[in-house]
Amino acid sequence: MIAVLRLGHRPERDKRITTHVALVARAMGASLMYLVGEDRNVVETIEKVTENWGGDFRIICVNDWKKVIKEWDGITVHLTMYGEDFEEVVERVRGNNVLIIIGASKVPSEVYELVDYNASVGTQPHSEVAALALFLDRFTSGRWKKLDFKGAKIRIIPSPRGKRVVRDEDSRSGI
Ligand code: SAM
Repeated sequence: MIAVLRLGHRPERDKRITTHVALVARAMGASLMYLVGEDRNVVETIEKVTENWGGDFRIICVNDWKKVIKEWDGITVHLTMYGEDFEEVVERVRGNNVLIIIGASKVPSEVYELVDYNASVGTQPHSEVAALALFLDRFTSGRWKKLDFKGAKIRIIPSPRGKRVVRDEDSRSGI
């Protein structure tokens, strides 16, 4: 089980990037994202994605992020440029339930103490979306690409040019 805890979301500023965090989490193997605070806009956008593209990814809005970390049944990893190299952390935690914590604005210092690991994806500041994607790719050993999104209404058939899309009604009629 992989989950993401999104800290510091500011609805007026972070709507788009938090949506991207959720899209990456879903596409790359997480089952859920805890979103600190409430943002119906993000939740509804992702619900629509899941309805069309399958799987059972969901967002849970929470207020008490410390409780989420303390009660997590598995390993907690905070992605931060100040941490230890993420590839070493991945080697230690692969195969466990993992809660991945990422920030938006400044992350409270308590987070660094509460988690099992602080992991850096390089030591330059970049993006929570990039950090999460790289972590999940290594954590799943690239297997996220083979995930089966059950109940999908739309599937893409990779093709060198153009768009090959199978819709639910096409597959039912044997097209
Ligand atoms: N200014 C904020 C601070 O001082 O904590 C960080 C903002 S940064 C755009 C948002 C999030 O991206 C961070 O909380 C962290 O989770 C992630 N992030 C950015 N660069 C990272 C890196 N090199 N390694 C791991 N995570 C990173």
